[in-house]
Amino acid sequence: MKASAGGYARASDVRQALEMLAASDGSGRVLAGGQSLIAAMNMRLSTGDILVDISRIEELAGVRETSDSLWIGALTPHAEIGRNALIRDHAPLLSQAVGFIAHAAIRNRGTIGGALAHADPAAEFPAGVLALGATLHVEGLDGPRDIPAEDFFQDIFETAIDDGEILTGISIPKAASDERQTITEVARRSGDYALAGVCLVKRSGKHRLSLFSVAPKPVLAVQAMAELDRGDIEGAVRALQADIDPSSDTQATATYRRHLAGILLRRAVATIQGESE
Ligand SMILES: Cc1cc2nc3c(=O)[nH]c(=O)nc-3n(C[C@H](O)[C@H](O)[C@H](O)COP(=O)(O)OP(=O)(O)OC[C@H]3O[C@@H](n4cnc5c(N)ncnc54)[C@H](O)[C@@H]3O)c2cc1C
Repeated sequence: MKASAGGYARASDVRQALEMLAASDGSGRVLAGGQSLIAAMNMRLSTGDILVDISRIEELAGVRETSDSLWIGALTPHAEIGRNALIRDHAPLLSQAVGFIAHAAIRNRGTIGGALAHADPAAEFPAGVLALGATLHVEGLDGPRDIPAEDFFQDIFETAIDDGEILTGISIPKAASDERQTITEVARRSGDYALAGVCLVKRSGKHRLSLFSVAPKPVLAVQAMAELDRGDIEGAVRALQADIDPSSDTQATATYRRHLAGILLRRAVATIQGESE
């Protein structure tokens, strides 16, 4: 099927993109890498939109460090996340996540900002930034706003980005030398969306655990985190079952996803314990 006819405009800076969105009377859609949006348009899940192409806005690109945090521009492609030395050193969970996302062609075009704004509950980056305690930066004509990852993902494909706003970047606390981060998942085939996935961070003796593909949005598993902090791994696996709300579909039943979540949590704990020895 072909996409329905719509408009297209390429912005050269954030201000111009925001003005284009404001002028589109609610039908403007931000176009970044196009790996999810164009597919949705081709399936007529999204029609008649005016595409505001932000893909060449330089201020949204790149990765920078400050003394205690890392800023990742919204337009940073997945492939760059995977090879960037700053990300590898200070947010290795994101580098690892790239290996699970789709295939090379999609990783070359898809952007981290697009993946976060798209908010697919089965996607790796939303759960990753949740586990990392990231802050997401958005900008509208009224100015910028900072949104903690905990408040950003609101429902399936729904975020705290308001109409007319653009996600500009993400800030992540830099990992201390004793910090441990890992991501693991189960998918039917390499590159497929996960049936269930887990991100685990151990920072200053405290755990942050998030899961994907087990609820309508990525989940911060607070009850399981408390058990991990107490050192009770089996207690964490039990507590996890209350934190998640998987559904059954053609890929897997809810029961199987719950089972996988426990297995993946044990694997993630074993990985970070192994790295600490
Ligand atoms: C076959 C296939 C397999 C895939 N497998 C996986 C997978 O296993 N894991 C995974 O995580 N993803 C997967 N994806 C999705 C892929 O990672 C997309 O690249 C990503 O979800 C969207 O990034 P994009 O830059 O292409 O965004 P686009 O497609 O351009 O945009 C996606 C949505 O986000 C909005 N948007 C984009 N950028 C911004 C911004 N800066 N501010 C505000 N809104 C914005 C758009 O308006 C649109 O609604 C797959 C895609 C395909 C086609």
